[in-house]
Amino acid sequence: MTDLLRQDEEIWDLFTRKEECERRDRDGYGRFPYYRSRHRDVCVPRASQILMENGFQCEYPEGQPFAICLTHDIDTVYKPLPIKGYEIVKSLRDGDFSRAGHIIPQLRSKKRPAWNFQEIAELEDSYGACSSFYFLALEKDDRDYAYAIEDLEQEICMLHDQGWEVGLHGGCRTYCDPERLLAEKRHLEKILSRKVAGFRNHYLRFRVPDTWELLEGAGFLYDTTLGYPDCIGFRNGMCHPFRPFNLNTGREMEVLEIPLAVMDRTLLLHMRLNIEQAWDEMERVLNTVERHHGVITVLWHNEFMIGTSLQFYKKILEYGRDRGAWMTGGREIATWWEKNGLRPPGDGVTGGP
Ligand SMILES: [Zn+2]
Repeated sequence: MTDLLRQDEEIWDLFTRKEECERRDRDGYGRFPYYRSRHRDVCVPRASQILMENGFQCEYPEGQPFAICLTHDIDTVYKPLPIKGYEIVKSLRDGDFSRAGHIIPQLRSKKRPAWNFQEIAELEDSYGACSSFYFLALEKDDRDYAYAIEDLEQEICMLHDQGWEVGLHGGCRTYCDPERLLAEKRHLEKILSRKVAGFRNHYLRFRVPDTWELLEGAGFLYDTTLGYPDCIGFRNGMCHPFRPFNLNTGREMEVLEIPLAVMDRTLLLHMRLNIEQAWDEMERVLNTVERHHGVITVLWHNEFMIGTSLQFYKKILEYGRDRGAWMTGGREIATWWEKNGLRPPGDGVTGGP
């Protein structure tokens, strides 16, 4: 696969994200955004396209034509009591009585509307789908600490037992800190009593190729962070999972990347589309991935599971069901890919839809 992509310098640069290795300019969150990229046609999976044109093939269980990888980053659940108390004191001190009045009733209830994993799982199940949930496993003093993973033990074990994946949502500095990465992975594994396979970093912070190296070293099966925060599409031209090529070492890495194509915030906030335009764009990328028999990874945060954004998510599930897509989480796709993956021409792909 790499030999074929290497033949076209521009595609090879896109596939390896050469510009990100060479340029150090980043946005306010330390990310490489789409607006800084010289590859403008982000909704065309150019690398995947070349592979398919040259006879590469892939197949999915039961002849399903393509896959929708459904994922949820759990950034917030509720605020622990001491933080709620602190916020009330702070609001009163600042004279913000309405905010204090809003928080006080929450003191009695641990649960907040974002504590909705079971509802999400039930919804997906009704469409024949399942998904991955990535949880933060931060300590109280960490930046972006929003919940104690210990408090969610019952919920996450239940998700796992029902067949939904529990993966790690790395904290805001985890993508470049091997010790943190290992500590967070072990923290989550202790609660789950199982190995964690999947990773996505908070705010989609990612450094090419360093983050892949760290994930490989920490023993992750796959990552699914590689998508642009400010535009939907295919950041390295792939609409299939792939083994990243490390330009610094000249070798293919062990960790699998299941590239992220669509994040709720990107589509519904950053791109400033109305709901009809957003669906048109969504349908366009779904169609593209379907045509290439690829995998489209969708990130829907648990706090976006309300109102119109919930309806939008349901529409994605409907689309997938109507087109016979394999709708599942990252671990299942990565495990399948390990054995089956993209195969060069004449490599014994038999089935098909
Ligand atoms: Zn996050």
